[in-house]
Amino acid sequence: MKARLNLIVLGPPGAGKGTQAKRLEERYGLAQISTGDMLRAEVAAGSAIGRQAGAIMQAGGLVPDETIIAMLGNRVDEPDCARGFILDGFPRTARQAAALDVMLAEHRLALDAVIELKVDDDALVERIAGRFTCARCAASYHDRFKQTRVPGVCDICGSTEFIRRPDDNRETVMARLAAYYGQTAPILPHYRDLGRLFPVDGMAPIDAVSTAIEGVLARLSQEL
Ligand code: ADP
Ligand code: ADP
Ligand code: ZN
Repeated sequence: MKARLNLIVLGPPGAGKGTQAKRLEERYGLAQISTGDMLRAEVAAGSAIGRQAGAIMQAGGLVPDETIIAMLGNRVDEPDCARGFILDGFPRTARQAAALDVMLAEHRLALDAVIELKVDDDALVERIAGRFTCARCAASYHDRFKQTRVPGVCDICGSTEFIRRPDDNRETVMARLAAYYGQTAPILPHYRDLGRLFPVDGMAPIDAVSTAIEGVLARLSQEL
C-alpha cells in the first residue's frame, strides 16, 4: 500500500460514509475528517459557527461554503494526517470542491481516490431512520442492520447511553437528499474527468462494502 493515502468518501446521507471512513481510519492509520462531526461539535460548544449551523442542519440544508472552508482551515496538515486522511461529508458543493483543489495544491498533497457509495433512496431513508450512536464513544449502530451485540450496551466501550441525531427523521431526509442530488452529485464529473472516481455498490452489507473499497485501494497502489 502507498505510504500515504488521501481519500474522499462521497455519497448521499446514510450511504455509509461514516461507517466506512471509520474502518479505513483503523485499517490504514488515516485521519477521518468529518465536517458533519465537526459541525455537531461546534453546535454542542455553542460557538459562533455552531449557532449559525444548527438551524440549517436541523432543516436538512447545507451550511454556507465559507463557513465550512474556514472551519476546515489547515486540518489536512495536522499530525494525525501524516499517513493521509479520509474526507467524509466534504466537499459537498462545486465551490467546496474548488477550495479543496486549492488547499491540496498549497500543501502539495495529491488526491488518490474518491470513493462514491451508491445507494438507492429507499434504502437511505431506512438507514437514516434507524441510525443511532453511542453517547460516549460515538460508535455507530442501526436498529436492524447493525445492532449492539448485547442489547442496550455499546460493543466498543460498554456504555448504555445512545443518541439519535435530531436531523435523522423522515421529513429532514427529503431535504438532505435534495441537497445531495442538487448540489453534491454535480461535482462527481470533476473527479471522473481526473480519473479519480471509483464507484462502489453501497447496497451490499457493511463488510462487503469494506472489501470492495479495499480492492479499489489495492489496485490503485499497484498502478503507482
Ligand atoms: P453516512 O455517514 O453516509 O450518513 P452512516 O455510515 O452513518 O452513513 O450509515 C447510516 C446508517 O446505516 C448507520 O446506522 C449504519 O450503521 C447503517 N449502515 C451503514 N452501512 C450500511 C450497509 N452497507 N448496509 C446496511 N446498513 C448500513
Ligand atoms: P449525512 O449523514 O447526511 O451525510 P453529515 O453528518 O455529513 O450527514 O452532515 C450533517 C449536516 O451537516 C448536513 O445535512 C449539513 O447540514 C451539514 N454539513 C456537513 N458537512 C457539510 C458540508 N461539507 N457543507 C455544507 N453543510 C455540511
Ligand atoms: Zn461506546
